[in-house]
Amino acid sequence: MDYGKNGDVMDYRQDGGVADMGDNWGFTDAHTHIGTWEEQREREETGILSLVCGSTPREAERAVKMRGRHVIPTCGLHPWYGAEYQVEELTEWMEQCPVIGEIGMDSVWCQTPLKIQEQVFRRQLRMAHQAGKPVILHTKGQEERISGIIKEFPNRYLVHWYSCGRYPEEFLAQDCYFSIGPDVWWNPAVQQIAANVPADRLLVETDGLNSVKWAWEEGLKALGAEKAECGVKERQLAGEAEFVVKERRLAGETECIVKERRMAGERKCLGKGWAEDRKMSVMSALSHTLSTVAKLRRISYEEAGRRCWNNLVYGFLGSLFALDFFQKAPYN
Ligand SMILES: [Zn+2]
Repeated sequence: MDYGKNGDVMDYRQDGGVADMGDNWGFTDAHTHIGTWEEQREREETGILSLVCGSTPREAERAVKMRGRHVIPTCGLHPWYGAEYQVEELTEWMEQCPVIGEIGMDSVWCQTPLKIQEQVFRRQLRMAHQAGKPVILHTKGQEERISGIIKEFPNRYLVHWYSCGRYPEEFLAQDCYFSIGPDVWWNPAVQQIAANVPADRLLVETDGLNSVKWAWEEGLKALGAEKAECGVKERQLAGEAEFVVKERRLAGETECIVKERRMAGERKCLGKGWAEDRKMSVMSALSHTLSTVAKLRRISYEEAGRRCWNNLVYGFLGSLFALDFFQKAPYN
């Protein structure tokens, strides 16, 4: 099968079978949003395979147009906007995306009546099911309800940034993928998921740098001012790059750092900014999340990265390689 110029993802696919990549893996961001130009440029330059989500009609159009070598667009009407737009306004873009979402329900950060949210959600679940496209789920506060609803629409699901602490078994029983969010370094509920999800269902995400920033600030609050201050100083002294390097040396890993630098074109991909000016990079955020996940699972950093790559490319996205989407080169 000739996949033409479809980019890095395709290069690893051989004759419709799963190629053994050995040590060959790349950074993955299983769920993110469009973000700033700077963020978009970083994704392209460093080759982070990213599932970029459009949540409104306008964003969906933008996400589809961002499709490229490392960017896989996803879209769906987000529960936050369920009363503002109609699903029809996104249909055209949903048809052009290989993945639907994030969609779901939210009773924590959203005022839209749950009845409306559920109608919008079910409608899109049905569309995804009929089109055979996997789905990214937003479950905030509605975890138990959603775990029941999706049973009616058998599909491949990615539960994004699960932070509930309860009902994970309901989703695990349905063979869902879990993408670990950027608060895993301090949030016990997220740590529980990161430590316990089956190895072939593990993914990592940033949810975009705005969310990384939020998670970072929440973590500083959660850990208390003293510890936070100490953490900031440690990073200021060492720079985030050094900090991550040190963490990994503790785990007896050095090769991955070299690899990461090479992938980032020798650019200071880990950034200094994390603590100094609260400016962070996608790479530093993913790297931080991966190293935390690795520690929680008692595996190496590289093993964590490789698993996330394999799970995304061959697992969650796997059967999509047969879809038309991947047979049209993005640069034609
Ligand atoms: Zn999101």
